[in-house]
Amino acid sequence: MLFIGGSDEGIGNHVGFVAGRYRDGALSDTRTDVTRCSPGTFTAFLPSCRCGWRGAPHEPDEAGVRRCRREWTREHLRHVVPTRHAPSHQR
Ligand SMILES: [Zn+2]
Repeated sequence: MLFIGGSDEGIGNHVGFVAGRYRDGALSDTRTDVTRCSPGTFTAFLPSCRCGWRGAPHEPDEAGVRRCRREWTREHLRHVVPTRHAPSHQR
């Protein structure tokens, strides 16, 4: 599993992780650490949350992992936990 952020960022059901999209369209689950799978295993990385939320797909590389982490925080976590982890500015 590839959790996003430190242990203090998981709140209740909201635990972010990066899901990989396999070539057949299926998504990896929370037990898969997408960064440890061989290149070419996935066609995309998607920011995901244990509550079932998923964001837009990103390139399956290191930059994509970073974008997934940022998106989970900005696009999901701050909406479900508005008083914590809110970025200092909005887009
Ligand atoms: Zn969530």
